[in-house]
Amino acid sequence: MPVAGRTPDVIVGICFHGIGPPPAGLEPEAHDYFVSADLFLGVLDEAARQPAVQLSFDDGYASDVEVALPAVADRGLTATFFPLAGMLGRPGYLDAGGVRALSAAGMGVGTHGMSHRSWRGLDAGSEHEELAVARSLIGAAAGAPVSAAACPFGSYDRRVLGALRRHGYTQVFTSDRRRARAGAWLQPRYSVRRGDTLETVRETILAPPPLAERFRCVAASQVKAWR
Ligand SMILES: [Zn+2]
Repeated sequence: MPVAGRTPDVIVGICFHGIGPPPAGLEPEAHDYFVSADLFLGVLDEAARQPAVQLSFDDGYASDVEVALPAVADRGLTATFFPLAGMLGRPGYLDAGGVRALSAAGMGVGTHGMSHRSWRGLDAGSEHEELAVARSLIGAAAGAPVSAAACPFGSYDRRVLGALRRHGYTQVFTSDRRRARAGAWLQPRYSVRRGDTLETVRETILAPPPLAERFRCVAASQVKAWR
């Protein structure tokens, strides 16, 4: 528990996926995570005014370099990008040169695994592919070692976190829609989704949550971490 009278360093992690129209052939559920460039830029302008906001981008869509990178850099911000190793170079996704461009521009590059499957219940071979091979491929593309991971679907349990620790990841990003502590190993984030507007982002993400909500969210993620 924080010491009374001291405010802990709290981070509002905001996670985007695709910006603009989704690539052809993408599964319908993934469309819910594509937002318009207008909404993205509006949220970015708000984020630029709030030092506690930390930006990230999952799934490695081409909009990471085409839209996100110039907009983030123009505002003097940084972000962490979590591409999928198995999708590099596919239509609508980043290729290795795009990952290198993100890294060269001073952005963080982490891993979202190989093929966007849940990391819960993986056998040893699949775990190696998702947590080790994917990481090497993305690190080779970035030209820098990768030490942060974002769990696909925000899905994790105690075994997933144990495996990530064994593999030496220094930070793990989830989608638990609550505040994160600065420097903590586990970093919850809020995903911005297709149905959001600047108003819903202000109300449900950027505004400080009521105390009861904060406690409920912390309890929920503790259950998740230990199941
Ligand atoms: Zn994802």
